[in-house]
Amino acid sequence: MSLLVNNVYCVGRNYRLHAAELGNAVPEEPMIFLKPSHAVVPLDGSSLTMPQGRGSVHFEGELVIQAAKDYIPGMKVDELVEVMALGIDFTLRDVQSVLKEKGHPWTAAKAFKNSAPLTPFITFPGNDQLLQTDFTVLKNGVEVQRGNAEDMIFSLQTIIDYIGEHYGLGKGDLIFTGTPAGVGPAESGDVFELFWGDERLGGCKIG
Ligand code: ZN
Repeated sequence: MSLLVNNVYCVGRNYRLHAAELGNAVPEEPMIFLKPSHAVVPLDGSSLTMPQGRGSVHFEGELVIQAAKDYIPGMKVDELVEVMALGIDFTLRDVQSVLKEKGHPWTAAKAFKNSAPLTPFITFPGNDQLLQTDFTVLKNGVEVQRGNAEDMIFSLQTIIDYIGEHYGLGKGDLIFTGTPAGVGPAESGDVFELFWGDERLGGCKIG
């Protein structure tokens, strides 16, 4: 089952410590890739099937914003965004390494079915208020990632301006805003839970 969403933009390497843990340089401008809307499924506790026999699947917990209207230049984040969620940018890490070496697009590593599960939306607290709360990913009950929008290399404002200017950003579009450090393998039977502060927004089990 897929959710009704439009374009799904993702930001790569938007946290210094995550770029470092994968041995990547910090980008000089936002690094944007896309996933098909078919990748988006609800993080409602159900079991998610991952690609088999293609090497390791990594989890990347991320803050996700949705555009409530069509972007126009000069628009502030607080005008554009009414709701947010947490999501996981599942990645075929071994496949991605080969694609990077070859200079090929990341589609095979990033755009597979179920690769962008999303919690229910909550009200966007505002760009300043957002920095007051951490988001966390628990794997089998243990915290593996903790992020805060304050640590993003490119702010939400920079990201929406960049995507709006170069690619277009319209009502219903999602933006996965990048993952903090702590990514790692997701294997069959693992349970993931995503928290906004103390509030559990959703989770899944790897099938
Ligand atoms: Zn990511």
